[in-house]
This record gives sequence, structure tokens and C-alpha cells, in this order.
Amino acid sequence: MNEQLQPLKKPARNGKAGRSGTQDDIVYAHIFEAILEQRLAPGTKLSEEALGEIFGVSRTIIRRALSRLAHESVVLLRPNRGAVVASPTVEEARQVFFSRRMVERAITELAVQHATIEQLNELRQMVREERDSFSRGDRGAGIRLSGEFHLKLAEAAGNAPLISFQRSLVSQTSLIIAQYESGNRSHCSYDEHMQLIDAIEARDAELAVNLMMHHMDHIDTKLNLDEEGASDDLHAVFSHLLKKPKVPVKG
Ligand SMILES: [Zn+2]
Repeated sequence: MNEQLQPLKKPARNGKAGRSGTQDDIVYAHIFEAILEQRLAPGTKLSEEALGEIFGVSRTIIRRALSRLAHESVVLLRPNRGAVVASPTVEEARQVFFSRRMVERAITELAVQHATIEQLNELRQMVREERDSFSRGDRGAGIRLSGEFHLKLAEAAGNAPLISFQRSLVSQTSLIIAQYESGNRSHCSYDEHMQLIDAIEARDAELAVNLMMHHMDHIDTKLNLDEEGASDDLHAVFSHLLKKPKVPVKG
């Protein structure tokens, strides 16, 4: 456990370790980032005691951060056995993507109607920061900003239940991508984000929705959900060996 958390550069002891917010916000952000960057594998136990030591905060703070991650389905809280990093199945991943498409469609339509120029400018600034993060090799920050773009867009749509639903979906999508995507790519293309902002600013609902659906298609195709990816089923993984005709045993 300790070994897996060591890459964290700055233990958040005073709430000023490069992030704003309360102590549990900071712990939340560090753990979430470690999961997204695949430094914490799906299924890893998240011991409150070890995390408390690492971050130099009370177990109450750790519990709050874990409970928030659990609320977003990124962490599972198991009664009497503590927290683990979630490991969504292929079927769960498909369900998340299905919901994500529905929500993104609605958000895009509402954003075309309601997004202010200030909000669109903020979105553009966010995409620039996203692009800069990837170009200087900070994948963790890039993935976080990609997700935040979609949350900011939900805010511009101005529908509170959608914002809350979107928050959970974006977190789960990020986890699924960390789990199923191989290679070092982002799930979002910042060029596509920019085109989307332009279509919303032009108040072209049809174009904006089409761009968003293409954007979602691209996320889908970067994942290996349709193929036989990594599995924890030993019989499935070694099925090619099981199908071989049995070698007659002599003696
Ligand atoms: Zn995106």
C-alpha cells in the first residue's frame, strides 16, 4: 500500500499543497489523480490508517475523502473490510457510457440555449490549459481538465440534477478509461472541445449535438470493451490451453 502511494510528491499537510480547498478536497484530488494515472490499480485496498499517515491528516478526513470517491463510484466501501479502488466490469462500463451519451446530449442542447459568453470564454481557457498540460507531459492534469471541461459545460447548461449526474458519470468514465485504455492518450480531444464551443457560441444545436456524439464515439472506440481485454477469469484467459486435445499420458 505504502509503496503504491509513494509517487505523491507533496503530502497535503496544511491544505496548501498546490491545490485549493479543504483537507478532504486535497486528499480526494490526490487519490483520484493516482487512480486516473493508473498508479493505483483497480481493486487496490485503501487503508484509512496508511492514508492518514501519508497525508498527515486524521482518519475522519480520509473517511470523508473516500466517501466522496465512493459517492462517485470510483471507490467501493465494503462493510468491515474497508475501501478499495473500484474495478468496473465491461457491462458496467457500457452502462456508464450509455448514460453519459444521454446526459451529454441534453447538456449540449441546453448549453446552446443558455451558455453565456463569459462561460464560453472560461471553457476556452480550460481547453487551452488542457492542451498545455498534455504538451508538457502532465497527463494527470490533462485528464482532470478534460473531465472538468465536461462539468463546466454542464454548469453552462444550467440544470442542477444534470450537473450532479454528470459529475458521477465523468468520474466513472475516467476510471473506466484508466482501466481499459492502453497507451498514453487522453480520452478527450481538445480540438473537438474547441469545435464544440464554437458550435455552441453559434447557437447551432444540431451541429453541437453532432459534434458531441462524435466526441463520445471517439471515447468509445479508444477503449477495448468489445475485445477480449484483460480479465480476472483464469479459465477465460487460458481457454486456448484448455481447448487443446489432451496429450495422452504414458505410464
Ligand atoms: Zn471531452
